[in-house]
Amino acid sequence: MKTLSVVVPCYNEEAALPCFLPEMQKAADKLRADHRLESEFLFVDDGSQDSTLALLRDFAQADRRVRYLSFSRNFGKEAALFAGFEHARGDYVAVMDADLQHPPAMLEEMYLAIAQEGYEIAAARRVSRKGEPPIRSLLARLFYRLINKISKAEFVDGASDFRMLSRPAVNALLRMGEYNRFSKGIFGWVGFSTKWLPYENVERVAGETCWSFWKLLLYSVEGIIAFSTAPLSIASVWGILFCLAAFVGMLYIFIKTILWGDPVAGFPTLACLLLLIGGSIQLSLGIIGQYLAKTYLETKRRPIYILGEKGGFDQREDKERGGGEKAPT
Ligand code: UDP
Ligand code: MG
Repeated sequence: MKTLSVVVPCYNEEAALPCFLPEMQKAADKLRADHRLESEFLFVDDGSQDSTLALLRDFAQADRRVRYLSFSRNFGKEAALFAGFEHARGDYVAVMDADLQHPPAMLEEMYLAIAQEGYEIAAARRVSRKGEPPIRSLLARLFYRLINKISKAEFVDGASDFRMLSRPAVNALLRMGEYNRFSKGIFGWVGFSTKWLPYENVERVAGETCWSFWKLLLYSVEGIIAFSTAPLSIASVWGILFCLAAFVGMLYIFIKTILWGDPVAGFPTLACLLLLIGGSIQLSLGIIGQYLAKTYLETKRRPIYILGEKGGFDQREDKERGGGEKAPT
């Protein structure tokens, strides 16, 4: 029998989890009955401050399919996904949010796309941006257009993290051990044949999203820096343009002085030009600084996450992995 691992990152999801588990169990039972596909649920508690971890311990007690990892602090959803991939045993691995924005019932469709149609990845894609502020939709669209121009990885507008991957795709993702993890780019970068399944966006069942407008904006900058070096060449282009302009200006002043002997006036022009040039140098330095900072963090080779606790794993498996983490009490 083949196994499906469902990886669920959870950050302060005490309100949503009690609704999520029964839905998930229902979907898993159906997969088992209809397609002889076993499931395991791998919850990753991303350093929640509420009772998420306590809930997960209860879940693991109640259902043998539940396993959980708990981080020592909040490392972010990307880190949680990576930890999930590392610990997933399944032949197929699905990723979904705990807030039921990703309907577990879609897992069947994804499974069929991979097992029967031969795709390596089946992913949900939002077809509408309904319920989103228009300015946010506009910026999102602009972002996708820009990043697809300047990056080699393919970024699909509306692609969600809700997806199922076959083993080869999971192994490829595990080889992407970078510290600055921008999952939309990472998924796009590894490639593989992907089937896009449309789905409607729904509100989360409970709790709150942690994505403010600013966080999203900063996140998109992260994405550009992580998957494109185009901004770095802006500095060179700018430099060349300014040199050309300076040369033309010099020629103009020189000829004008020789022909008409006009004393050079124009202090305001000079001040403006100084500001402009100073500003663009600062901007270029800033861009270089961003890349330098990322390189700096990457060279430290810090672990992507630190486990505080895990549960639901059998002991033999713990030994194989070197164990070390505290077992739940
Ligand atoms: N999440 C996480 N760590 C974080 C933030 C979020 O593991 O630092 C999880 C969260 O519990 C949820 C998923 O990532 O299961 C998506 O988060 P959210 O619903 O806030 O994002 P949105 O759906 O608005 O993109
Ligand atoms: Mg959500």
